[in-house]
Amino acid sequence: MCNAHTHNYDVLILGGGPAGIAAASAAAAPHTSVAIVDENPTLGGQIWRNSFAADVSDPAAHWYQRIQHSPITRLHDLRVFHAPSPGTLQAEAGNGLHTLHYKKLILATGARERFLPFPGWTLPNIMGAGALQNMVKSGLPITGKRIVIAGSGPLLIVVAAYLKKHHARVICICEQAPLRQLLPFAKGVITNTEKLSQALQYRLQLLTVPYRAGWWPAIARGQSQLETITVTDGARRYIIPCDYLACGFHLVPNIELPSLLGCSQSNGFVKVDTTQQTSIPGIYAAGEITGIGGLEKSILEGTIAGYSATGQSTAAQQLSAARSKSLRFASAMQRAFALRPELRRLPAPSTLVCRCEDVPHSHLVSHSSWRSAKLHTRCGMGSCQGRVCGTATEFLYGWPSESVRPPILPVRLQTLAQAEDPASQELSTAI
Ligand SMILES: Cc1cc2nc3c(=O)[nH]c(=O)nc-3n(C[C@H](O)[C@H](O)[C@H](O)COP(=O)(O)OP(=O)(O)OC[C@H]3O[C@@H](n4cnc5c(N)ncnc54)[C@H](O)[C@@H]3O)c2cc1C
Repeated sequence: MCNAHTHNYDVLILGGGPAGIAAASAAAAPHTSVAIVDENPTLGGQIWRNSFAADVSDPAAHWYQRIQHSPITRLHDLRVFHAPSPGTLQAEAGNGLHTLHYKKLILATGARERFLPFPGWTLPNIMGAGALQNMVKSGLPITGKRIVIAGSGPLLIVVAAYLKKHHARVICICEQAPLRQLLPFAKGVITNTEKLSQALQYRLQLLTVPYRAGWWPAIARGQSQLETITVTDGARRYIIPCDYLACGFHLVPNIELPSLLGCSQSNGFVKVDTTQQTSIPGIYAAGEITGIGGLEKSILEGTIAGYSATGQSTAAQQLSAARSKSLRFASAMQRAFALRPELRRLPAPSTLVCRCEDVPHSHLVSHSSWRSAKLHTRCGMGSCQGRVCGTATEFLYGWPSESVRPPILPVRLQTLAQAEDPASQELSTAI
């Protein structure tokens, strides 16, 4: 039996990762009702998934304590799929539809890995680098497994260190960005004490693992699952036998909900002012959705957003110098891990680009837009709703993303039927 649930908050935070947790901590005050909502069973987001606990050996413990001791409502297992009217979000949970009313909203929806298609990329045991890490965190045995890590971005190094610590045989890390593109970023890391210390720790942990800049995956082969991966630098090719390929091409922000709300964007990220307010008054954004910049940037921006949304402007302003520094770091990261054009030539005609609807590259190349491809091939109309293939087609074919339509995540028809407002009834007819 499903029910409809209604909630009212002064400040609602969407996203329970570091940015959302920091925002909730900063916004928490005796006479302000603050809630944080996330689709997962616990808070923590991508980095602290399965480890957001009081354990003092955990770096997240400080934030766990702050959340525990603050008057914050935690709404777990709620997937926000629609923003039917100003001040209202709709979410689905196991027990039905939840309608969330807010006075101020802080968006901290984070980022996901970017996947690019190449021949064989859909074979079992090829997965996102962060995804493989999450599976190991959830109990996947990895001892002795041969793993190649490929794609782009600092996450490859983080995951390599994690897998090695869990006794996997990490064979190599192939970073598509050429060394000359990475060097200015590396210089920036050297001049930042905190980042340098992290980088040195990773260097020590990965002393025996080759890091190949300017190399990328070209062809994966195997009968029923991955057996070899061919990597290339554009001139040479090596075939590497392996059990897993952990592969992601940096991160893309989860901007579907900000788009639905009408928040302005720049270069694919949500635009904010120095208080983290978006182009819509009363709606703030923090973390990876304003620019991929890592943990420190997410925490800092979340804190500023929490202060700003509750009128603590002096406290927010005191963080402005740190904010500028983290934005410079994020821009440098974006330049360092920009994708090389050769990756556009990776898919063969038969390579699936949309794996939900089995749409190969050859069926897409003749189209001139995402809309045309969707209408004629069903690309992007499967269960991921274009979250995987949409970012790939944007890079491969240069199709800009088009308007976002609700529901932004797959939801049960029963949930839509529960929504009584006219916008949601439009929704039921749209799918
Ligand atoms: C798969 C993956 C693994 C990563 N692992 C590491 C790591 O080990 N170490 C590291 O330093 N960095 C890691 N990162 C990068 C890290 O996520 C960022 O550096 C930063 O911590 C992001 O914080 P955030 O709060 O902005 O977003 P996130 O941590 O991504 O949090 C956003 C949260 O919002 C939730 N959400 C989004 N949309 C909705 C919705 N519609 N309804 C309900 N909930 C929603 C998400 O489920 C998520 O829990 C990883 C990134 C990814 C994508």
